Amino acid sequence: MMKDNPKLPYSVKDFPKTLPTLKYFNTQEPKNIKAFIGWDGLVVLDESIDLLDALKMYAKQYQLYAQSCGRCTPGKYGGRVLYEMLNKIQNSPEASVDDLAKLKEICNLMHKTAKCEIGKTTPKPILQALDTHIDVFTRNISKNKQKLNKSNIIKYKTPKEEEDFKLEGEASDGSQVYYKANTFAKEIQSHNINPDMHDAFNVLERFKLAVHSHSHNQTYISKITAPCTDMCPSHVDIPGYIEGVRDKRFLDSLSATRGSMPLAQVCGRVCPHPCEHACRRAILDEPISIMELKRVGASYEMEYNTPYMHPNFIEAQEDLKNKKVCVVGAGPGGLSASYYMALQGIKVDVYEALPVLGGAVATGVPNYRMPIVAYNHDIDMLKTLGVTFHTNYPITKENFLDIESKYDATVLAVGTRLSKKLGCINEDFSLEGYLPAIKFMDHVNLAEKFGLESIPDLTGKNVVCIGGGFTSMDVVRCCIRLNAKSVIMLYRRDEATIIKNTSSEEYHEAVEEGVKFDFLSAVHEIVSENGKVRSLKVDKFELKKVEGSPKGELVPLEGGGYTLECDIVIPAVSQELDASFLDESFGIGLTKRHTIDADPHSFSTPRKGVFACGDCVSGPLTIVNAVGQGRRVANVVKRYLLDGQISLSDDEKMEDLLKDVGVYDSSREVIGWMKGDKRAHSDKLEPSFRAKNFEEVNFGLDRKDAIKEAQRCMRCYYISMCVV
Ligand code: SF4
Ligand code: SF4
Repeated sequence: MMKDNPKLPYSVKDFPKTLPTLKYFNTQEPKNIKAFIGWDGLVVLDESIDLLDALKMYAKQYQLYAQSCGRCTPGKYGGRVLYEMLNKIQNSPEASVDDLAKLKEICNLMHKTAKCEIGKTTPKPILQALDTHIDVFTRNISKNKQKLNKSNIIKYKTPKEEEDFKLEGEASDGSQVYYKANTFAKEIQSHNINPDMHDAFNVLERFKLAVHSHSHNQTYISKITAPCTDMCPSHVDIPGYIEGVRDKRFLDSLSATRGSMPLAQVCGRVCPHPCEHACRRAILDEPISIMELKRVGASYEMEYNTPYMHPNFIEAQEDLKNKKVCVVGAGPGGLSASYYMALQGIKVDVYEALPVLGGAVATGVPNYRMPIVAYNHDIDMLKTLGVTFHTNYPITKENFLDIESKYDATVLAVGTRLSKKLGCINEDFSLEGYLPAIKFMDHVNLAEKFGLESIPDLTGKNVVCIGGGFTSMDVVRCCIRLNAKSVIMLYRRDEATIIKNTSSEEYHEAVEEGVKFDFLSAVHEIVSENGKVRSLKVDKFELKKVEGSPKGELVPLEGGGYTLECDIVIPAVSQELDASFLDESFGIGLTKRHTIDADPHSFSTPRKGVFACGDCVSGPLTIVNAVGQGRRVANVVKRYLLDGQISLSDDEKMEDLLKDVGVYDSSREVIGWMKGDKRAHSDKLEPSFRAKNFEEVNFGLDRKDAIKEAQRCMRCYYISMCVV
């Protein structure tokens, strides 16, 4: 077992315990992971591996598939030089211990002077190995020399290899250059990659799926990631699309986004952007405006009415053209699954119970945050790919089997459409003035966005919403726009937690518009009169620090309770699955959390050919979470349609593994970048104006500011590689 290095974010000691037993499989033959090589070092779990070969292959992956931005020589050619040196140490009888010093020097030079992170980090596992496993290198050098002494050099000088290991003689500085191997040039030719690729933007074509390779009886799986990409539940190629904006290639930027996020209009506006919490730029000054930069390419496509941009690495497959899949639910999860299946040539029919498409984003998120025109632009893209939509078509216990039997596979993406109760005294659904959040938001949006209902008028009404997440924020801000007399949000925890649950922008915009927040409060009883809500009895709490509990403990505040006058009470504490369409005989079970019981990696259910994704599986989470699961399920279904098996690809395995390892490390120093470059902010409608209408609040970054913001991105790609 390799020596622990406490400087590594994933020393052997801290390495996820699940990893050694995590099976790698894309065939019938499962294999354990033998080593993991990454941006800060390596972890060897099986000492029998050929370490030199693994390091060499790591350098090769850098040069072949994940080239640097191409703006500096160490970055552009460093991987090639490292590969050649390691190749020499591994194979050539001409290698000497002096080569180890040279290797170390080149690694250090590259680490310090490469302009982008991938160039800086690629030498690190090699440096670590030189530090902790120097004996592996020296032993190999002597072994090769022995072969030379025994005059069995012939073994090396087969015609092909003679060409590879050509002796070069002396360099001008007097140092001995034994050979100038051209193995790498051949590799490059065989992959049809230009070694002098100066077009940094080609990275958008390079952010491909995991790469599978073999050398010296070892199998390697490599994948590019970035801290921000890993944190995004949909694993969007963030540095790639930001690079597109920086280089004014807005449509290419959009293509990079759609590689794993089809709903660019939506996630460029209403994503809680967890990626920004893992942005390394924040170590220097402020995180990059990742979410808003995604909107730039999407707006460009819509504004100039260009043909829809799709990812450049997904193609329709001939053998899928006769396959048909049914998707139940036209929300973000269902749309994402449909998009990626349709792109691959599968015929997709979507069944939606509501009269409109878009699920919770259409009927839950108000127009001032997510204009329906922009959302429809994303949805129309699916229609151009041949996806068919059936609205007002609920799937029930009665029609489920019939619909399912018409398709080769079924994907359930029904969301969570039932508001949960508060659990207080006198909580009666029939009370006038008691409005569950989902019902209320459906009404507002079907009226305001689609004209299918009359717009509610809350003039003169005192509204209290109980929540703390995005839905409750949408409720209170809509109530302000519907002219309520007063709007109060009751939340059990404190201001910091509500900001964490939603976003700083969302909270402060609500405050600016006139919403009042009462923290550390919960409804004890709904007081009614003649079947109407009249007031609420509210309990107050204090937050006590408790050892071992980072969230602290809520303790009732003696004598702190009070009565709050109220005409309308809107519970928005959480929501759950409406499972009434599932019959026990279908063999699709529910979890203890009342979600569909599906495998967390493949999203397959126990019923053959039936899959499920999004909130109905994970409970109410974010839009991007549902989109990410939709993409995964589309690919699992594709393979199922081809071979009848449930399997994960190399890429998906690596995605899950990287999530386990954790890519972002806030304690990691940023080298070579100046601090103090402020984050760009977009213009917004004035609070006094916007509080009276449903017009979009946030204008988005203008293109000039967006390009400047994109220049702040440090392009933190990393390569990860498993030896299996
Ligand atoms: S600086 Fe750019 S690449 Fe690096 S973490 Fe932030 S957004 Fe991602
Ligand atoms: S979808 Fe959300 S989490 Fe992913 S990159 Fe965009 S803003 Fe970040």
